[in-house]
Amino acid sequence: MSKIKVSNLYKQYGDNHVLKGVDLEVKDNEVVVIIGPSGSGKSTLLRTLNKLEEPTSGSVIVHGEDIAKKDVNIDKVREQIGMVFQHFNLFNNLSVSDNIMLAPMELKNVSKEDASKLARKLLKIVGLENKFDAPIQSLSGGQKQRVAIARALAMHPDIMLFDEPTSALDPEMVGDVLSVMKQLAKDGMTMVVVTHEMGFAKEVADRVLFVDKGKVLEEGTPDEIFNHPKDLRLQEFLSKVL
Ligand code: ADP
Ligand code: MG
Repeated sequence: MSKIKVSNLYKQYGDNHVLKGVDLEVKDNEVVVIIGPSGSGKSTLLRTLNKLEEPTSGSVIVHGEDIAKKDVNIDKVREQIGMVFQHFNLFNNLSVSDNIMLAPMELKNVSKEDASKLARKLLKIVGLENKFDAPIQSLSGGQKQRVAIARALAMHPDIMLFDEPTSALDPEMVGDVLSVMKQLAKDGMTMVVVTHEMGFAKEVADRVLFVDKGKVLEEGTPDEIFNHPKDLRLQEFLSKVL
């Protein structure tokens, strides 16, 4: 069954045409990785999947509902879709545990005790069980990103979106974040991941999409995309990043 089905999606800012007829389908338990040059519309595409951006036209069906429509309950959509950003977007004035506990308590009326138990469980999953009370500022970038993943998971989403989660990290931090993401994928999470980590894409993706200048130019298995690319722009892109 498809969890996300984007059809003929267009997005423009003024006269900047950013997405030009994108189709994207994500099935239950699938990991879809989006690659492509900077400025090609990857973040914009990802952000339309939880209505952080309004499409200019086209449909974005998530869990059977067209979230491109005006009257959709956006809070409900976002409860089911977790998002992890390049720059973490954590509350820097709160502790690690408060960052994780906030949304379940405020949006789902979870008790403080249950939220705290959940935070402990999630911190264990992301390998930060000893950081429960730590201030966010005391963490490294890689640790912050793992807290951001735990925070997203605290809402029990059934889709996770990742927008270049490791691009702002020092190289030695990248592996820890990718291994948390790999474990999530293994556990059956449905994921859409924008990344420049081609090793991750090869190993974890069920499908890879190459986006350039607002269009999906090629789509296939990691083997097809990385070992037998057909599109010339994809070949050129890969020659630079591999
Ligand atoms: P990518 O993630 O592939 O680097 P983006 O989706 O961030 O690409 O951006 C694609 C294009 O859309 C760029 O030209 C960018 O300047 C433009 N853009 C993105 N967000 C906005 C916005 N909120 N307002 C105006 N232009 C934007
Ligand atoms: Mg981007």
